Amino acid sequence: MRVPLPHRADLVETAALACIYCGETITVPVDISAGSSQQFTEECPACSREVTLLVTIDREGEVSLRSDPHYP
Ligand SMILES: [Zn+2]
Repeated sequence: MRVPLPHRADLVETAALACIYCGETITVPVDISAGSSQQFTEECPACSREVTLLVTIDREGEVSLRSDPHYP
């Protein structure tokens, strides 16, 4: 999914990913200025388990979000 960046001043994009445990959609803010490759954990709002998320941002500012199967 492409994420258009009409306003580069806004460096926080919202990305969403389905929880690997329960399937609930987890929405997280991604600070684009923090780097093109980021990893952090987010607690699922539905099942309260921590999910490790990997964020990659390409040169065009497209945000990709996926869970890390090695660090669930
Ligand atoms: Zn969950």
